[in-house]
Amino acid sequence: MAVLDIAQIGHPILRERAREVSADELASPQIQQLIDDMIETMRHANGAGIAANQVKRAVRICVLEVANNKRYPYKPNIPLTVLVNPVIEHLGDATFDNYEGCLSVPNLRGLVRRTLDVRVTALDRHGNPIDTTARGLTAGTYQHEADHLDGTLFLDRVTDTKTLCTWNEFRAHHEAAFLASIQSLLVGT
Ligand code: ZN
Repeated sequence: MAVLDIAQIGHPILRERAREVSADELASPQIQQLIDDMIETMRHANGAGIAANQVKRAVRICVLEVANNKRYPYKPNIPLTVLVNPVIEHLGDATFDNYEGCLSVPNLRGLVRRTLDVRVTALDRHGNPIDTTARGLTAGTYQHEADHLDGTLFLDRVTDTKTLCTWNEFRAHHEAAFLASIQSLLVGT
């Protein structure tokens, strides 16, 4: 496994729509290696997820994992999940405001409106179907990663640019209010 270079905002591949992965390609050593490397890169960077565009491969694969994350100490844990060709279905109209950051956007966070409940269908790394639902912060993480595969960054969804802040200023001035606003979401997610 290898830690890969993470594309930073301004790299054109972050703005590409990544292409679907076929069953044969998914089984190939190259794609299996890519998935292993994405997992290692995500863990090395303390990310909650990473999409293939971010390691400069425009294929529809993302990986997620939250395990007592240092970058996001308030996020509920997500077991290691590999999504191939994911499709997000928005369940209902309820939304919440999610403070997001991104490994491709250095030291910046901003408030993004996300759908509260989503259904995620995809293939796992072995080609088996995944069909699951997610709520709250976990739903936000799924939506953030799926956005990457369409060339969308969280910055595109920040509706009030006055919410933009560095990580240190987030912790100093915004984290407490954000955590209070999501307490109800954390219950049962
Ligand atoms: Zn990101």
